[in-house]
Amino acid sequence: MTPVDATALSAWIREFADLVARNRDELTALDSAIGDGDHGVNMDRGLTAVVAALDAEPPDTPSALFKKVGMTLISKVGGASGPLYGTAFLRMSAAADSVLDGPGFAKVLRSGLDGVVARGKASPGDKTMVDALTPAVEALETAFAGGADVTAAFQAAADAADQGREATVPLVARKGRASYLGERSAGHADPGATSVTLLMRAAASTLGA
Ligand code: ADP
Ligand code: MG
Ligand code: MG
Repeated sequence: MTPVDATALSAWIREFADLVARNRDELTALDSAIGDGDHGVNMDRGLTAVVAALDAEPPDTPSALFKKVGMTLISKVGGASGPLYGTAFLRMSAAADSVLDGPGFAKVLRSGLDGVVARGKASPGDKTMVDALTPAVEALETAFAGGADVTAAFQAAADAADQGREATVPLVARKGRASYLGERSAGHADPGATSVTLLMRAAASTLGA
C-alpha cells in the first residue's frame, strides 16, 4: 500500500473536518435529543481550528500531525468531546512511527481508543463514542491480520463504526450528559458515536482509497 505519511493523514483529517461541517446540523440534532445540543458546533469549531493549524504549519511526521490535532481539539473544544478526541489523537501521536503501514495504523488507532477509555472510563454498551470506535478498531485489526487490502480494511472499519453507532440507538446512556436522562436516552443514536462514523468514513475515502 501507499505509505501512510503526514500528507496522507492530513488528507484524512481534512476530510473528517469537511464531513463534520456538512453533518453539523445532524450532530447537533442528535445532541439536542439526549444532550445539550452542541456536539456538531463543538466538533466543527475544533476541526476548523485544526485545519487552520495544519494550513499555517504543515507537520512533517505522523506523530507531529496527531499532536497538533490533539492539542488543538483540547484547546478549542469545550465539553466532553474535546478532551476525549484530543486525548485519542495525543495517544496516537505517542504511538505513531514516522511512516505507517496498514497494521501500523491499526495499532495507532487502538492506542487512540485506549486513550478515550482511560480518560472517559466508558465501556462498550455505555452509549458513547467508544461504541463506534471499538468495533472500528477491531475490524481494522481483523482485516489486516487476514491479509485484506487497504481499501477493504478501511471499508470494513467504516461499516463496523456504522453498525456500532446503530447499536447505540436502543441503549440507555451510562456516561456523559445523556446519562442524566436515564431511560429517556433510549431511542436516539449517540452523537459522539455518530461523529466517529464520520472519522472512519473519512479514513475509508482517503487512507483506503
Ligand atoms: P458535552 O456532552 O460536554 O456537551 P459533546 O456534546 O461535544 O460534549 O459530546 C458528547 C459526546 O461525548 C457523547 O455523545 C459521547 O459520545 C461522548 N462522551 C461523553 N462522555 C463520555 C465518556 N465518559 N466516555 C466516552 N465518550 C463520552
Ligand atoms: Mg453536548
Ligand atoms: Mg456541551
